[in-house]
Amino acid sequence: MIWNDTAETMPAADRRALQLDRLRETVRWTVERVAPMRERVGAATTIRDLDDLHTLPFTRKTDLREHYPFGLFAVPRAELVRVHASSGTKGKPTIVGYTAGDLDVWREVMARLMVAAGARPGHTLHNAYGYGLFTGGLGFHDGGERVGMAVVPVSSGNTARHHLLLQDLRPEGLAATPSFALHIGESLRAAGGRPEALGLRYGMFGAEPWTEGMRRALERVWGCLAYDVYGLSEIIGPGVAGECEAREGLHVADDHFLPEIVDPATGAPRAEGEEGELVLTTLTKRALPMLRYRTGDITALTTAPCRCGRTSARIARLKGRADDMLVIKGVNVYPSEVEAALLAIAELEPHYQLLVDRRATLARVEVHVEPAPALLARCGGTWTDGHPEVEALRREVGDRLRVAIGLGVDVRLVPPQTIPRSEGKAVRVVEL
Ligand SMILES: [Zn+2]
Repeated sequence: MIWNDTAETMPAADRRALQLDRLRETVRWTVERVAPMRERVGAATTIRDLDDLHTLPFTRKTDLREHYPFGLFAVPRAELVRVHASSGTKGKPTIVGYTAGDLDVWREVMARLMVAAGARPGHTLHNAYGYGLFTGGLGFHDGGERVGMAVVPVSSGNTARHHLLLQDLRPEGLAATPSFALHIGESLRAAGGRPEALGLRYGMFGAEPWTEGMRRALERVWGCLAYDVYGLSEIIGPGVAGECEAREGLHVADDHFLPEIVDPATGAPRAEGEEGELVLTTLTKRALPMLRYRTGDITALTTAPCRCGRTSARIARLKGRADDMLVIKGVNVYPSEVEAALLAIAELEPHYQLLVDRRATLARVEVHVEPAPALLARCGGTWTDGHPEVEALRREVGDRLRVAIGLGVDVRLVPPQTIPRSEGKAVRVVEL
């Protein structure tokens, strides 16, 4: 099932024409109404074709911070109907806002990606994204209602309440960060429950980069299909892109958000298929239009036809954020590459942390992992530091990581249940 046939299966030429119309309108709207953007873009800017997009200046998170809270808004306060904020890593958060029309677009793009993952009218959605200023909770809430689902607004945290409601309400759909979904499932199993037998059909997981290994772990524990979803509050929240049943990239709602890929260092456009930083321009947003917003997320773009029949551009699964990249002994390492290698090892639990120590001249990284129950059984059922089985596994993990990331790192096997489980967004990298 496709939620919006007209928009999602539009012929390529029609799609480009619509994008061009909307881009022109967005540039006009922004330049007329947002003084700092008028200064930067120039009042006389005209867009003749889609390639002219590359002549526009970038917008960055720092611009939102600099014009905090409402300096980049294009409508008066009275026209806003909702405000969200993104987690600021340092100092003040980033404030984003929506007109009634913007919320309508948000519900529409959420409905598209949820239906692409298997959501249907009449289903029940267990929503374990955090409610509040974070866009995850209310984004999935509104999208689920638009589809015609019964939404259970559980929010993040309080794992025991998730166990209870999942077992008693038997939802078809689950929405959560992948790390929290895994924690709910594993802790339910540890408490004697059978998450795989609850009848869950699909999970929509996002807000942190995750890997195919994590997909297998989630599908195993829940007995459902796991779909990747993508978004960011500066653009709209979740709903920017999501996987279809083919699961060969995430369809971008590119009649609302125009994607391009640029070189993260120079900002030069990259060709289709080449990896780089995702840059998004909103095409229909009125309260807070964004021209060429630097997402910091590393991916690649394709417009090749998809088996599902949707004609929108697709992005590859996110590799991580450009600023998550660790430079260890001169080698560029994404935490997602470490995750891919670790989750391929059956004798490890799918939880890990990277401890990064930049206090020395050369940054050091130590990888913390936990052994799976099968290995513990071979150690006689109890955790024994230095046991030959533990040592053998530690060496194997080190070897695999060396092959995967091209770098020798220190590996520590830690006792079961000592790596913190996430009740929201996982903390994978700890700076010492
Ligand atoms: Zn598809």
